[in-house]
Amino acid sequence: MRLSELQNGQKAMIVKILGHGAFRKRVIEMGFVRGRLIEPIMDAPLKDPISYSILGYNVSLRRAEAAMIEVELASDNVEAEVSAPMIKVETTERPVAEAGRRVINVALIGNPNCGKTSLYNCLSGATEHVGNYSGVTVDVKDTEFEYNGYTIRLIDLPGTYSLAAYSPEELFVRRYLRDNCPDIILNVVDASNLQRNLYLTTELIDMDRSMVIALNMYDDLRRSGAQLDYEILGKMIGVPMVPVVARNAEGISDLLDNIVQVFEGRSRSVRHIHVSHGHDIEQALRELIDIIKRDGKISPVVSPRYLAIKFLEGDKEVDKLLQDSPSYDLLKQTCTRWRTDIERLTGEDITASIASAKYGFIDGALAETYVDGDKDKHRSTSLIDRVVTHKYFGFPLFLLIMLLIFWATFFFGQFPMDWIDSGVALLGSLAGEYLPDGILKDLICDGIIGGVGGVIVFLPNILILYFCISFMEDTGYMARAAFIMDKIMHRIGLHGKSFIPLIMGFGCNVPAIMATRSIESRSSRLITMLINPFISCSARLPLYVLLAGVFFSKYAAIVFFCMYFGGVAVAVVTAKILRKFVFRKDETPFVMELPPYRMPTLRATLKHSWSKGAQYLRKMGGIILVASIAVWALNYFPRHEQPVDHTSESSAIDLRYDSFLEAGGKFINPVMEPLGLNWRASVAVLAGVPAKEIVVSTLGVLYTEDAEAEHASLGQRMTSVGPSGEPGITPASALALMVFVLLYCPCFATIAAIVKESGSWHWGAFSVVYNTVVAWLLAFGTYHLASFFL
Ligand code: GDP
Ligand code: MG
Repeated sequence: MRLSELQNGQKAMIVKILGHGAFRKRVIEMGFVRGRLIEPIMDAPLKDPISYSILGYNVSLRRAEAAMIEVELASDNVEAEVSAPMIKVETTERPVAEAGRRVINVALIGNPNCGKTSLYNCLSGATEHVGNYSGVTVDVKDTEFEYNGYTIRLIDLPGTYSLAAYSPEELFVRRYLRDNCPDIILNVVDASNLQRNLYLTTELIDMDRSMVIALNMYDDLRRSGAQLDYEILGKMIGVPMVPVVARNAEGISDLLDNIVQVFEGRSRSVRHIHVSHGHDIEQALRELIDIIKRDGKISPVVSPRYLAIKFLEGDKEVDKLLQDSPSYDLLKQTCTRWRTDIERLTGEDITASIASAKYGFIDGALAETYVDGDKDKHRSTSLIDRVVTHKYFGFPLFLLIMLLIFWATFFFGQFPMDWIDSGVALLGSLAGEYLPDGILKDLICDGIIGGVGGVIVFLPNILILYFCISFMEDTGYMARAAFIMDKIMHRIGLHGKSFIPLIMGFGCNVPAIMATRSIESRSSRLITMLINPFISCSARLPLYVLLAGVFFSKYAAIVFFCMYFGGVAVAVVTAKILRKFVFRKDETPFVMELPPYRMPTLRATLKHSWSKGAQYLRKMGGIILVASIAVWALNYFPRHEQPVDHTSESSAIDLRYDSFLEAGGKFINPVMEPLGLNWRASVAVLAGVPAKEIVVSTLGVLYTEDAEAEHASLGQRMTSVGPSGEPGITPASALALMVFVLLYCPCFATIAAIVKESGSWHWGAFSVVYNTVVAWLLAFGTYHLASFFL
């Protein structure tokens, strides 16, 4: 039978993983191997996905994915057979550290959520530096500190379950290990979930590098009453193991001592062992290793055994690496021969056999060193989950939490916002008073203080929003939100995790785009980023307020709703189009771990939210500053050298010098005319490209310039026919303008965020072009439809 047919309360044993590629590889490395017990825990409110318990942790699968796993019903008291681990010790010469070198490069590697970042922060103190390593959009942090006369350079790598090259993180970690050769690999292992975490360890052992294991979350292990003889386990696998609690900095100096000892070659636990894969696979490996060793051309940096294992698994990167070797054909032949042999013998393909062997090794090693404690160690987690993912309460609770976050963002943000606002105003008036008249004064007051000040007031909101989001991420609730929303998001080809950034977009698209980082699948992440600008952010609200107030005062609420809803609809359609034509295949499966709930420390959450806020501030100093100055300058120049003659209407028009901005607006006006927009609206649209807040203020400026209309309100002025006979704004063109501003080219900050987060300017350019075209077409349609009815 299939895993998807299993009823709640039934237990089953895994027989086989069907399917292919990323999904298969991912579940196998997460411990879905033959003979493992698995049990359904709960359904999401919409019946899909389902969460299962395996190896003592919870993982969620979509129903369609669970249908690819063949299982057999198991009675309650079955225990997987465990054989003693087969370990072969081999003495290989590791390059000893260069004498006198006082720098140790340490790379942190471990499963997602095992506490790498906590350990990193705890080891490094507060001196972190965020670097975005080119090409790949995963954040890698590095830091340096002194210990016992050594400079330790620590690198925090993204979390991975294995070194397979399927997800971007795995590929990144693998390339990093190959190209940068850290002196010590610090493998972080979640001590409360050893079986799965040690899988990555066995792969690292294959690589034969100097390594130390940090047994993190040792407090969890102790609390559950389990017992682990980590010294024996460490000796068995040839890697020193140090229990630590990253959260309270327990065991840290012990860990550092071990790192130094291994670096100096003084550690007594270190020896090189082979994780045995059973008779047949080992035979195959031996043949492959022989060929690799005989061939002098193959890079000596990577251990031959690791190369052989990955080659046997059919790994594409290793295949490419070996292609230049003269023995490539021989290797390939040997490999194919053994692969068919092994598949015939075990009835499983080679990937599954190797994973089974590795898990078998781990079981054997743990059988001798580990005594399980309280079986139901995550009781509080399952209690909370029962409420949070409840059939009827799940969604309302989730909406309530989101609402609460928005409310908090705006309510608590209001006070500091007012302070900043009055601070900016004070600064502006001081500058206005003390600076001598002239260009410099205008630049500082109107360009810099006005422009940047108008945006910096959002900083408190952003910090509060980030605080809430970090808190949800750190506790583990975010994974549940993704769990319950997945079915709906899946309809538009996205992942449950895409929901949060879309909601955040109603506040501001920039942090929302940054929040897509938690989405593992690159294509889902890109789609989420690209549709985000269609979600109507708060900067577009002033325009709706103005235009709906003037033209549709009775139906303002309906117009508002149509704008927000229209944005969402365009986002949904765009997601579907992108999934259909651009990102045909989703490269990572939904399979997602549901970590046990943990109360995060206040310090960690504050730190997370601050590091995000600091990014926002850097953006202020950069792109927004430049854009504000540019718009100001375009509106300021060319200067009117002589007083303009205002005596007659027509000569005033002839003699006036347009600013560059106005000239630009008039230049693009022919394109905007079909939307029913006059040149002033075109100027406003153009000025709003850096930041959409500027649209309304530009309209205000342009419509005050007509001297004789001084007594009329902005609304009256907008509707009247202009002095040179250009049409005023009509209800139909007002709707078109709203639609256009809602959808057109994202603001500079958003474009910058897209470029930075996607790692390429292409997507920024795509967004500019696509959104503007869509905006034009829909505004055109709106204008004509509205003209017809109104
Ligand atoms: P990463 O994904 O590997 O970087 O993991 P994080 O450092 O983000 O930690 C994941 C979660 O585990 C957070 O909620 C931490 O507060 C928690 N955590 C980290 N270290 C410990 C520990 O030693 N004990 C306990 N109980 N929790 C920890
Ligand atoms: Mg981390």
